[in-house]
Amino acid sequence: MPSIADRYRQICQQLPSEVKAIAVTKHVAVEVMREAYQAGMRDFAESRIQEALPKQEQLKDLDDICWHFIGHIQSNKAKKVIEKFEWVHSCDSLKLAQRLNRLAEETRRTPKICLQVKILRDPDKYGWTRSQLLADLPELDRLSHLKIQGLMTILPMGLSDTEKLSAFQATRELRNEIEQNKTVSLALSELSMGMSGDYPLAIQAGATMIRPGRILFGDRPLQ
Ligand SMILES: *Cc1c(COP(=O)(O)O)cnc(C)c1O
Repeated sequence: MPSIADRYRQICQQLPSEVKAIAVTKHVAVEVMREAYQAGMRDFAESRIQEALPKQEQLKDLDDICWHFIGHIQSNKAKKVIEKFEWVHSCDSLKLAQRLNRLAEETRRTPKICLQVKILRDPDKYGWTRSQLLADLPELDRLSHLKIQGLMTILPMGLSDTEKLSAFQATRELRNEIEQNKTVSLALSELSMGMSGDYPLAIQAGATMIRPGRILFGDRPLQ
C-alpha cells in the first residue's frame, strides 16, 4: 500500500509548476491530515462547515495551512466561512457573492473567491450557467471586498473523457472571455477544476488548482 506521502509525490510529479493540488479532506480524520501535512501538503479543502471547524481547531498548531472551502454555503454559515477560510471555491450565485462581500467588509477580511460555474446542464449542481454569469458580471465587479480570482467547476457524472475535456476547455474559454470583457475589470487567473477521476484532463485544459480527495486518502464512506 503506497503511503499518503507516496501518493502525494506521485500527483505532484504530474503537475506543471503553475498547477497547485488542494487536498480535499472531507471525511478525513485529523490524524491523517497531520500525516498529509508532514508529507508537505499545505492546502486543505473542506465542504461542510460543521466538520471543518472542529478540525481547524484541532490542527491550529499547524499555522501555515491554507484553508479552502468547496461546499455549497447556506446563508447562516456564510459568516463562519468568511472568518475561517482564505479561499472560497464555491461562490455559486450573485446573492451569495453579495452576502460574502458584506460579511468580508464587516469582518475586515478579503477572501479569495472562485465563481462556481455549471458549464453543462446539471440539476444536481449549484453554480452559474454561462449566460447568467455573463449577465451578473457588472454586479460582481462592484464587490470590492472580495478578491474574485477565477472560476471553479464540477462536472456532472457519467461523461466520457472527450466530453470531460471539452467541458473543462469550455470553462477556460469562458474565463478568457470574461478577462477580455473590457466593461468589467475582473482578472480571473485561476481555474479550479479536476478531482481524483479527471484531474489529468483538467490539467490538459489549463487548470491551475486541482482538488484531489480519494486518490490521496482512499474512498470515503457513502453519504
Ligand atoms: C469531494 C470533492 C472533491 C474531491 O473529490 P474526489 O473524487 O475525492 O477526488 C473535489 N471537489 C469538490 C467540490 C468536492 O466536493
